[in-house]
Amino acid sequence: MEMIATTCVYCGCGCGLFIHVEDGRAVGVSPNPAHPISRGRLCVKGWLAADFVHHPDRLRAPLIRRGGRMVRSSWEEALTATAERLKEIREEAGPGAVGVLTSAKGTNEENYLFAKLARAGLRTNNVDHVARLCHAPSVAGLGAALGSGAMTNPIRGLLSSDAILVTGSNTTEQHPLVAATILEAQSRGAALIVADPRRTQIASLADHRLAPRLGTDVAWINGLLNLILEGGLADEEFIRERTAGFDALKDSVSKYTPEVVEKISGIPPRDLEAAAAAFGEAPRAAVVYAMGTTQHSNGTENVLALANLVLATGNLGREGTGICPLRGHQNVQGACDMGALPNVYSGYQKVEDPAARGRMEAAWGTDLPPAPGLTAVEMMEAAKEGRLKGLFISGENPMMSYPDRGLVGRALESLEFLAVAEIFPTETTALADVVLPAASFAEKDGTFTSTERRVQRVRRAVPPPGEARPEVEVAAALLRRLGVPAEYASPEEVMAEIASVTPSYGGISYPRLGTAGLSWPCPDPDHPGTEILHKESFPIGRARFFPVDLLAAGSDPEYPLLLTTGRSLFHFHTGSMTRRTPLLDRELPKPAVEMNPEDAAALGVRSGGGVVVESASGSLEVEARTTDSVPPGTVFFPFHFAEAPANLLTAADLDPRSKIPEFKRTPVRIRRL
Ligand code: SF4
Repeated sequence: MEMIATTCVYCGCGCGLFIHVEDGRAVGVSPNPAHPISRGRLCVKGWLAADFVHHPDRLRAPLIRRGGRMVRSSWEEALTATAERLKEIREEAGPGAVGVLTSAKGTNEENYLFAKLARAGLRTNNVDHVARLCHAPSVAGLGAALGSGAMTNPIRGLLSSDAILVTGSNTTEQHPLVAATILEAQSRGAALIVADPRRTQIASLADHRLAPRLGTDVAWINGLLNLILEGGLADEEFIRERTAGFDALKDSVSKYTPEVVEKISGIPPRDLEAAAAAFGEAPRAAVVYAMGTTQHSNGTENVLALANLVLATGNLGREGTGICPLRGHQNVQGACDMGALPNVYSGYQKVEDPAARGRMEAAWGTDLPPAPGLTAVEMMEAAKEGRLKGLFISGENPMMSYPDRGLVGRALESLEFLAVAEIFPTETTALADVVLPAASFAEKDGTFTSTERRVQRVRRAVPPPGEARPEVEVAAALLRRLGVPAEYASPEEVMAEIASVTPSYGGISYPRLGTAGLSWPCPDPDHPGTEILHKESFPIGRARFFPVDLLAAGSDPEYPLLLTTGRSLFHFHTGSMTRRTPLLDRELPKPAVEMNPEDAAALGVRSGGGVVVESASGSLEVEARTTDSVPPGTVFFPFHFAEAPANLLTAADLDPRSKIPEFKRTPVRIRRL
């Protein structure tokens, strides 16, 4: 049996594992004991990460729609049809009429080449990916405050923390190996503060639990900071030497007294005071957050409030401190780093900056468009209105993951041409004109960048099924058909090009990555990588405080409950891989909406009974499950299940700064079936 060292395909922890191979088949997985993040451990999804690889549903040959039916084609025919149709649309309707959605499940090399396909091949900046739906507010908020939207400190550094604030993160279920590290830190004496409207497992283990009402983060974070400042617990030297704008911040948070915070958030003053003392008095404190913080129409303001907290307490640039946005997919960080975003090239070089654009034009040998393109959800709106006519999607399933599924369906159906590269048939491939069978993580070489900025190797363990191909080959073939030179003998050569045009990846090369990988910035081949950001200075000189306020959210008597969506331990995102992993699907085989017993009793709903959930966007029928882990007035529903897609109910209400949609607070009503 061979054991191939690679990186887990699921969450952003980026655990190292071995795929066990016998007779050309992946037969199992075990943890890599030498890996710096996972340290010989995996969560249940990691142990089962190879179980979907040989599933009979895998796409094995290219398909083209003819006479309303998908029929088998050759690669030559499918690639040529894709390149020619996108080119025709661009020539007839302009470059704004075409777009590319890449995937945070794809490698860095794939994301880089698909961004290049959009910009150099199709001459459009309409390129985006799932980060728009998860950490766009981190890129916008932390970028503005600190000069970088990335996690500042390594996961293992949490072991040195004296206090850890976890907010908007169901860490034990969604980033289990980060949770294991947090709980190890707690067992060594760190105070664990958890803020979440739901009583998640990590919330139930907290030393200080805050249970704010949905959507009130800015109020309680400002209130926490106000108490810290009033208690004389600010780091005055850090504020004086390394930041700007503190006086305006201090003034702005002063109105968030414990009583005001209680009125807005429901958090009792004594709980807020205890949490403020635990965080403010800790010599080294860290903040960990995820999509409960970001997936709001004020997501950027939530992130800015957390940035204010770590800046005012001087909790940056040192071991055991930091602000840690946990990425949901294993390569959200890398896909952003690679410029799969409408406003930046790789390394966050702005498309509007003539110097950066000039460098990329010289490297890619072509003129590039100067204005930022459309974001992911804006592309759906543009498609519905007929402004976007041709779309290439790599490894994404917008029919399940984007808000307002009804709108997304109308948008994708309105396109003149849709091509999708995927490993399994999905609700989105069902609408495509061309489907290209892709290799899974176990069947290709490349790199992923974990949530802590660690660039790590992905290694081919087994051959792809049938005619499926790694998407590096797909992107390169499309680039060549669009007249852009793209002769890469291997993904390693793509990484060499990435390093040559991306200052923060300048010293990254496959031979240097080994088992531990390297954390960026790693600007040259002798650089050891950077585990802790902002040690001496910020990329913007002084970090900036941004005062933020909470606009009071009204209630809607027609839709009196608030729906919050999320994920479960046993499934990943739209379920295309985990629902084809028998042991995971056995644990959670069907959807259920979680309701507090009080709400259920008031509506005459019993646990296990059917209900109709309705919002202004749509309605669906599903089973109800009563649990007091959700507070009265709130219902929770995971979005993994095609038979009851939660995003039928959500709306495309966007945060104006980051353009992330509101997934965490949708007014709904429920009635018994
Ligand atoms: Fe994979 Fe995340 Fe589990 Fe690690 S914690 S094994 S990366 S799913």
